[in-house]
Amino acid sequence: MKLFNTLTMKKEEFVPIEPGKVSMYVCGPTVYNFIHIGNARPMIVFDTARRYFERKGYEVNYVSNFTDVDDKIIAKANEEGVSSEEIAERYIKECKQDMSGMNVREATTHPRATQEIDGMIEMISDLMEKGFAYEVDGTVYFRTRKDPNYGKLSHKNLDDLRSGGRSLLVTGEDQKEDPLDFVLWKPKKEGEPSWPSPWSDGRPGWHIECSVMSRKYLGNTIDIHAGGEDLIFPHHENEIAQSECCNGVPFAHYWLHNAFLNIDNQKMSKSLGNFFTVREISEKYDLQVLRFFMLSAHYRSPLNFSADLMESAANALERIRNAVDNLEFLKKNAAERELTAQEQELAKQIEEFEAKFDETMDDDLNTADAISAVFELVRAVNTGIGADSAAQLVEKAENSIIALCDVLGIKAKVEQEVLDSDIEALIEERQAARKAKNFARADEIRDQLQSMGIVLLDTREGVKWKKA
Ligand code: AMP
Ligand code: ZN
Repeated sequence: MKLFNTLTMKKEEFVPIEPGKVSMYVCGPTVYNFIHIGNARPMIVFDTARRYFERKGYEVNYVSNFTDVDDKIIAKANEEGVSSEEIAERYIKECKQDMSGMNVREATTHPRATQEIDGMIEMISDLMEKGFAYEVDGTVYFRTRKDPNYGKLSHKNLDDLRSGGRSLLVTGEDQKEDPLDFVLWKPKKEGEPSWPSPWSDGRPGWHIECSVMSRKYLGNTIDIHAGGEDLIFPHHENEIAQSECCNGVPFAHYWLHNAFLNIDNQKMSKSLGNFFTVREISEKYDLQVLRFFMLSAHYRSPLNFSADLMESAANALERIRNAVDNLEFLKKNAAERELTAQEQELAKQIEEFEAKFDETMDDDLNTADAISAVFELVRAVNTGIGADSAAQLVEKAENSIIALCDVLGIKAKVEQEVLDSDIEALIEERQAARKAKNFARADEIRDQLQSMGIVLLDTREGVKWKKA
């Protein structure tokens, strides 16, 4: 499997540190508002990467943080007259709801910055001891000049950045030794959340969070570090500097970055105000459609959001689901028999489409082409399978579509949701039928409930039920 590595600017064969395992860290959102659909792009594409690794048999340790202390969170808290914790707590909950709607699985660990302050103080102290950090008036900076590899990820000309940097310094920053030095710890301002430290009562800088959480949950060197391409510089560059200067070993072997989601060919962002939240989209579409839309482009290509593209994603998803629905229907009456020669040919074709899917995903997670492979499969199945097809072929086709879609996080089979009230109504009807000595009807209802996966328990207190 090949992945494009921002560090080397090449597609490289993926070789895990430990055979059969993948350790992966994805920079998560700053939680001060509902996430927008731009933020959803890394969530969806890297969740898909995780699922594909699992298809290939890897065990994935997937860590994604919530940044729950930040200027924007504090500003929002002040605006509402509540605590930063309350804001962070609220939007973590909302974010998890959106993730679930998009079928983005929970990470193995979702660490939160405010719960990892001790580790951050420890790493900053270590960097100071090693000469990679210095303190001025309670603020601690990273000494970028001391790191000979600084700039290796972003491939930027640091001298240009430095000479431009002087004029960019904000008030109070002229105490830095170098314009590229960045904050590891800063003293609190009035009314801000703070923690005691050897340097000042204050809070950590943003970059140190990820270095510390990645090390704590995944180790000094990890397989993959990922995020949106805006994070390459300075965030990821700074994470590398901190981690490698502190730990003395490479931080991550592969650096993956998704391109932006644009709107009218401009980056979708909170600051530009040109965004839709995932929640807004969920009012109009099943969020599976949003997921399908995101994956219809390769993750390193910019993607322009438009109502037209969402409509075609909705139609495409519908086509897949109809095919599965149809197979589900055919399966019920299909004959249990050996495959004919023609059917064997189709069975072989199904396997070829699966191989094609894997081949495209092996090529730097090309979900766009993987979706095309699913469509070719759907087309072949739609024309090749009918009422007289063998049961094992119908089943194979259905399982294949469902499994490939599942790698993309797309639910191809829509389960009919059974409401508790429907079940209870049926149970009541069965009781009434028994009372009326209509045992045939009572048995019929019991069978119907059974086929819905409901088990009836006759207890002393009456009939109870549970899902099998
Ligand atoms: P933030 O909350 O701004 O730190 O962003 C969380 C994640 O969303 C980061 O990985 C960003 O790179 C990513 N992101 C933000 N805006 C966009 C966008 N318009 N398109 C793609 N990714 C984005
Ligand atoms: Zn990060």
